[in-house]
Amino acid sequence: MNIPFIDLKKQFSRIEKQVRGNMDAVLEHGAYVMGPEISAIEGRLAEYCGTKHGLGCASGTDALTLALMSLDVKPGDAVFTTPFTFFATAETIALMGATPIFVDIDPVTFNIDPEKLDKTIEALKGADNGMVLPRVEGLTARGIISVDIFGLPADYEAIKAVADKHDLFLIEDAAQSFGGEYKGKRACSLGDITCTSFFPAKPLGCYGDGGMCFTDDDKLIERLRSHRIHGMGPDRYDNVRLGITGRLDTLQAAVLQAKFDIFPEEVDLRDKVADTYAELLADVEGLTAPSVPEGYRSVWAQYCPLAKDSKHRTRIQSALQEKNIPSPIYYPIPLHLQTAFKDLGYQAGDCPVSEDAASRIFAIPMHPYLEREQQEYIAEIIKKA
Ligand SMILES: *Cc1c(COP(=O)(O)O)cnc(C)c1O
Repeated sequence: MNIPFIDLKKQFSRIEKQVRGNMDAVLEHGAYVMGPEISAIEGRLAEYCGTKHGLGCASGTDALTLALMSLDVKPGDAVFTTPFTFFATAETIALMGATPIFVDIDPVTFNIDPEKLDKTIEALKGADNGMVLPRVEGLTARGIISVDIFGLPADYEAIKAVADKHDLFLIEDAAQSFGGEYKGKRACSLGDITCTSFFPAKPLGCYGDGGMCFTDDDKLIERLRSHRIHGMGPDRYDNVRLGITGRLDTLQAAVLQAKFDIFPEEVDLRDKVADTYAELLADVEGLTAPSVPEGYRSVWAQYCPLAKDSKHRTRIQSALQEKNIPSPIYYPIPLHLQTAFKDLGYQAGDCPVSEDAASRIFAIPMHPYLEREQQEYIAEIIKKA
């Protein structure tokens, strides 16, 4: 049985006519850059998420960069974030010359721990409370980037309270959680600015790179818009600030239009697949299947169980590998231990919950079109291991 990690072919067979039609329309009108499909998809996705504005951009990483630029993040600023995420979350902070400060995660949701977040901010402000800080002098607390890892929103009520208490901005890195929900609100509406990604493997993917920022703030959307195109001002030949080439391609917007037509249905299908895994993996000894707290909805960007320990994980991964079933590790090295951040001075042991998760976690195939018998086959292999 050949089981792909993510099956984009099945999806394409459903929407092929629409995708080709939409792309043809772009080829006809020829507005490859900032064509009408851009504002159309911005409007549709913002409405779905429940935000006032959407701003298409070239990738999830550019969305984060644009958000940080719009919030005037600069050298000397500290931005608090999770180490248990894709590199780009902290990379963009450092690219602005600012310093990421890593806060350990909740062991169940794998998202940033709001209590530790508050204590770490207090530590930066001088409290002697044992929280670990980077080896950088004279930092000012500016903001928080929380990540909705694997498609599950972080605890925004608690995080927002911490942000307000310390007067910090809050960016939601929703690269994996477009379509998720938190206490009656959609993911992508939970920060001052939210950033998502349309990388093909994300829940809503295009056929290349793409991303979007969402905000309710009229001033921030103007800043984002300006930074997206080289800091343009009202006069297109007078650039009023610095920016990037951060636009979403019109062709990718055309693809997204077709993909979004079936997206809400795909979110339901993902839920069903996750429920089936939960049922099939419930009695595997030593394995912890992912769980979703009351009031949350995950969009299941990844389905990541925890093995008992790293040896158990190796056994499971070898057994899956033997049957050609991919089981990649997200993420094997937490960001505080990445070589690129070694100057921050973090040590193994500084974020123990993230390090423990990194040593035991693995992902198994997850997409809306996974069939029950494929899932039974995967579960059986895991059980035997
Ligand atoms: C994928 C991802 C990004 C970056 O998105 P790209 O579109 O690949 O640039 C940022 N943060 C998280 C959590 C991601 O999963």
